[in-house]
Amino acid sequence: MTLFTAGGTLQTPSWSALVNKLTVIDCELCNSVGGLLLWQDDFCRVVLIDDNDYPGFCRVILNRHVKEMTELSAEERTRLMHKVFAVETAIRALAAPDKINLACLGNAVPHVHWHVIPRWRDDRHFPKPVWAPAERAAMPRPKPDARALALRLHQLIQS
Ligand SMILES: [Zn+2]
Repeated sequence: MTLFTAGGTLQTPSWSALVNKLTVIDCELCNSVGGLLLWQDDFCRVVLIDDNDYPGFCRVILNRHVKEMTELSAEERTRLMHKVFAVETAIRALAAPDKINLACLGNAVPHVHWHVIPRWRDDRHFPKPVWAPAERAAMPRPKPDARALALRLHQLIQS
């Protein structure tokens, strides 16, 4: 593809830049917040997922469209993981799960995001991942208060 700039100069954008632009257009995490927004800055955001089986399930989503963690600088990786661990701490405090699962897959949506998933020994999939076939019927669980979760998260991120 060849493009002309306003000044009339010929410019050939790289193939990878075009592919990335097309991917962004289709990307659900570029086109939506991705859940109930609990916290955000110019780099990433934390959203609460409405999931009755896993109350407190959150995602930490990078704001810009990047496919792999290794595309981030070392400083950015640390910055992102700081938020992931803050979310883990907040979920542990408010949902008291038996275990936390951290996952960064991106197979379906290749835009860096971390799943922070509270797990219970009697949840639908335990001890398997939440994406595996269910092991048992769902157990009703109380949902942590979203405002309390957001407040705890703000405190942890600022500390
Ligand atoms: Zn994206």
